[in-house]
Amino acid sequence: MNAEVKATPAPAGETLATPVIATVGIIGAGQMGNGIAHVSALAGLNVVMVDVKPEALDKARATMTKNMDRQVSKGQVTAADKDAALARITASTGMEALGDCDIVIEAATEKEAIKQAIYKSLCPHLKPSAILASNTSSISITRLGAATDRPERFIGMHFMNPVPVMKLVEVIRGIATDEPTFQAVDALAAKLGKTTATSEDFPAFIVNRILVPMINEAAYALHEGVGNITSIDTAMKLGANHPMGPLELADFIGLDTCVEIMNVLHAGMGDSKYRPCPLLVKYVEAGWYGRKTGKGFYDYSGDTPRPTR
Ligand code: NAD
Repeated sequence: MNAEVKATPAPAGETLATPVIATVGIIGAGQMGNGIAHVSALAGLNVVMVDVKPEALDKARATMTKNMDRQVSKGQVTAADKDAALARITASTGMEALGDCDIVIEAATEKEAIKQAIYKSLCPHLKPSAILASNTSSISITRLGAATDRPERFIGMHFMNPVPVMKLVEVIRGIATDEPTFQAVDALAAKLGKTTATSEDFPAFIVNRILVPMINEAAYALHEGVGNITSIDTAMKLGANHPMGPLELADFIGLDTCVEIMNVLHAGMGDSKYRPCPLLVKYVEAGWYGRKTGKGFYDYSGDTPRPTR
């Protein structure tokens, strides 16, 4: 089923109609993309996943199956709902597969040049009414929207990791984002069982503006020898009542993503307090991105994670 845009534009003073979303496209089948596909399919939406790497699409399906199996074993989802949800997900390596989508949520690598190249190849395939959302953790929604053919239907829809578990979606309007787009995305988040928090379009929005500098500070504490990995994480878990220590959390997010967010904050705010910690950068240069590569501040090759320093 396609979107129905009932009456756009509406006469001045009247509310514009909110597009109906039945088919969701997702670009990037990594940690976030598979989670967004998971919750969308379980909510009864058709899902089209696109990634440049066929192996990422295979891995995403295996991850979704494993995660839904866990939900079935906990009694949160029925086996029939799981099967129906997985059957609603199709996968492709080509942007043309996204032509029927009412919304496309881009969840590709956190690099502005990659995202802009994606929009350039994607936009000619989109139907005119389609909304384009980015799951970016930090990059300007206004600037990303300006690189598309539809800045008024471009918006930030920032899910948290892991998507099936975390309740929040941060919604970010670019300067040109129109009200029906905002309303449609707000309604979609509610359909996915999420609560929204609205953020203005400033570097890293709300969650990562506060969270990632804390992670960066934890990396500095490690770099300067204030504590080792275990003591820093234990201190913040037991001393600040955080469910995960900051370095454990950094591994979970991806150290590459953390550095990119600090770079965006540093460039966007022009304040040296946002400079990425050299030790964090060194881990990324080593290809030690955290859980997704098997090693970051911790080594995940054994039964229990072992600190790497
Ligand atoms: P990831 O590295 O796990 O996945 C990124 C995926 O994008 C990969 O599968 C890659 O093959 C794919 N990709 C790269 N270039 C592409 C292209 N041109 N076309 C199609 N696919 C392409 O990264 P992730 O952690 O899932 O992050 C994705 C996005 O979500 C980023 O913008 C990130 O900032 C954001 N985000 C991440 C988190 C987190 O905790 N990791 C939380 C919220 C938002």
